[in-house]
Amino acid sequence: DPPEKRVPRPPVITVMGHVDHGKTSLLDAIRKTNVTSREAGGITQHIGAYKVNYQGKQIVFLDTPGHEAFTAMRARGAQVTDVAILVVAADDGVMPQTIEAINHAKAAKVPIIVAINKIDRPGANPDHVKQQLAEHELIPEDWGGDTIMVPVSAHQKTGISDLLEMILLVAEMQELKANPNLPAHGTIIEAQLDKGRGPVATVLVQRGTLHIGDTIIAGTSYGKVRAMINDRGEKVKKALPSTPVEVLGLNDVPAAGDILDSTDEKTARGVAEKRIAKKKEEEIKLNSKVSLDDLFQRIKEGEIKELNIVVKADVQGTIEALKASLEKIKNDEVKVAVVHAGVGAITESDVMLASAANALIIGFNVRPDANARKAAETEKVDVRTYRVIYDALNDVEAAIKGMLA
Ligand code: GDP
Ligand code: MG
Repeated sequence: DPPEKRVPRPPVITVMGHVDHGKTSLLDAIRKTNVTSREAGGITQHIGAYKVNYQGKQIVFLDTPGHEAFTAMRARGAQVTDVAILVVAADDGVMPQTIEAINHAKAAKVPIIVAINKIDRPGANPDHVKQQLAEHELIPEDWGGDTIMVPVSAHQKTGISDLLEMILLVAEMQELKANPNLPAHGTIIEAQLDKGRGPVATVLVQRGTLHIGDTIIAGTSYGKVRAMINDRGEKVKKALPSTPVEVLGLNDVPAAGDILDSTDEKTARGVAEKRIAKKKEEEIKLNSKVSLDDLFQRIKEGEIKELNIVVKADVQGTIEALKASLEKIKNDEVKVAVVHAGVGAITESDVMLASAANALIIGFNVRPDANARKAAETEKVDVRTYRVIYDALNDVEAAIKGMLA
């Protein structure tokens, strides 16, 4: 990809900061300030990212605020953010997650612009916020440092255009460029299983151009692009660098942070199969079947040292939450390990995997299909379905402690 073939591309922005400091409100304010009334109907369309036009230039905002999502993507090798907006409430000041966000952005070497939000509040004290940020090596420009800090109010929609201007300024210094004349390369921003449409993935195209009919691979999923929908809910035929689009046509639900590439069909299938095989190899540990009911007894007898669990849920966010909470459960004798997690109904292959890994299956807002139910009976795999996360966590905890009702 010779540099001379690259052309300027819009910057991609992630909004981070402490809970309740106004990340979601700021994203909303930016979106609403920049849609004309004609388009207003389109803003309900949600694809996990959106593009705004400011003074004839485009800026892309990722819709999942917070550094956890940012770092989860980075852990998969995805680098999607060009500029991080750090939101700090002017009345609350620097809080623990503010510091975390600073560290995550720094670790990723992403420039930070600070939005000092809620300046409409009676208790707002922007200078105090600057002082606190200076202690974390973010020195404001007006104090001779190099961090841009913009006072804003997401509620009153003040300072929004200043912020957008600063984003363009910082982006310009980065000289962001990409070659549109290549097979598409991008990152999965989010993905889910849609009842009618099958796997649906929001993709940020980063290099090349993605077209209808292209064969793509993302993680262990692959397929032909059947349809693409942009952030305004319009069908599009192609997506250039720095364009977020919803993509239909994958055969499975990829994970946020999976890298997407366009390639020929044979390669896509081959690579997907190899990745699936490798994943199974890592997941499978032979043992005898586990069940929550006799778990405590078997732990006591020293027969089980690790409780393996397969997690299936309706959305990726739940999986992440459930996985993190489950893996925190342990006592002196046993620890909990999630050996496989995925979006969608519990299938026969989940059951076979659970059987091989001596895992039990926890389904959250999903159920086993007919084949899975049959397989679970034959394989004697314990399948439990829940609608409340705490019920699932309580059952696992109780089983480990021998207190299952
Ligand atoms: P997030 O957790 O960072 O996404 O924060 P939210 O956007 O959900 O905002 C948290 C709370 O602060 C909500 O009650 C908002 O209405 C309020 N809030 C957000 N921005 C402003 C602002 O500019 N001024 C005032 N007064 N309140 C705000
Ligand atoms: Mg929020």
